[in-house]
Amino acid sequence: MRAPWAADPARTRGRVHVEPPAAERTEFGRDRDRIIHSAAFRRLEYKTQVFVNHEGDLFRTRLTHSIEVAQIARSIARALGADEDLTEAIALAHDLGHTPFGHAGQDALNECMAPHGGFEHNLQSLRVVDLLEERYGGFDGLNLTYETREGILKHCSPANARVLGALGERFLTQHQPTLEAQIANLADEIAYNNHDVDDGLRSELIEFAQLRTVPLYAEHEAMALAQYAGISGRRLVHETIRRMINSLIVDLIETTRARLREHAPQTVEEVRSAPPLVGFSPSMQARSQALKAFLLHALYRHYRVVRMTTKARRIIADLFSAFESEPRLLPSQYQDRAQTQGLARTIADYIAGMTDRYAIREHRRLFDIEAA
Ligand code: MG
Repeated sequence: MRAPWAADPARTRGRVHVEPPAAERTEFGRDRDRIIHSAAFRRLEYKTQVFVNHEGDLFRTRLTHSIEVAQIARSIARALGADEDLTEAIALAHDLGHTPFGHAGQDALNECMAPHGGFEHNLQSLRVVDLLEERYGGFDGLNLTYETREGILKHCSPANARVLGALGERFLTQHQPTLEAQIANLADEIAYNNHDVDDGLRSELIEFAQLRTVPLYAEHEAMALAQYAGISGRRLVHETIRRMINSLIVDLIETTRARLREHAPQTVEEVRSAPPLVGFSPSMQARSQALKAFLLHALYRHYRVVRMTTKARRIIADLFSAFESEPRLLPSQYQDRAQTQGLARTIADYIAGMTDRYAIREHRRLFDIEAA
């Protein structure tokens, strides 16, 4: 039975362009399917999570990250009785607006766009599904339901919220999104903390000795060794990480259940006006935070990662200024789009849509005299 606070696809706030209901699928299931079939979703395969795409074949990309987020989010949604399709749709779409080169790319593009309203990847994800996908005869974008779009827009500055109408309102009134969106948001955090530990070890940028200073890792490694005394290397890493993911998920489910009992929301609207209901217990929150802080210091600020991200920032900045000073360098469909969307926003859309390797190639084409 559907929980009273769960989002109900039969009672969605609907789509901007009215469409007849889908046969054999819920409205949120249809959203998920549209996201999977979008071009932006396929591009995630060649976009950086932490490591630039050509660094190695085993590292996470935005695509595998999004799939891991969806897996974790679905498990949580099912246990709690939330709408699985909506949770999955939000999880799969949450990074569609990410630039090439991960956060470095986003920061660089945001700097370039500072005089033109800035660049936020959450807002860009929404722009992708509302406007930039060109697939349907009757409308631009994917025409997703309100609830999926609400979930995709995780953060938003007050200035941007004001121009978004109903969708932006919650950032001004401090309301929450659906429980499904809250689940997808924390599933994102569980996924990246854990897979970045894995990728960090794989790349040898972080060492076991360092990681063992992080309580969450040390406890779960001890649990893995208690069960399989002789294991080491990749096997030990995986046995540790699967236990960490499991503990985080179980803690999140139990904590959220308790909050749902306490606040007893009877409708989605009551979820929206309650405090955040999905979360970790205080002790798990502290341990997860400590792991995050460790990764920031040991991995994301590792000099080899910084070298990579510095190059990436330069590529984005070079591309932006080249197109801005000479718009005729843009592919013709973007020159046309600039007439209605403005030049700077069009350049940002073009750059944000690039994969890592496309951006590197485009940079070579524009700056290397011998490149074709
Ligand atoms: Mg993410």
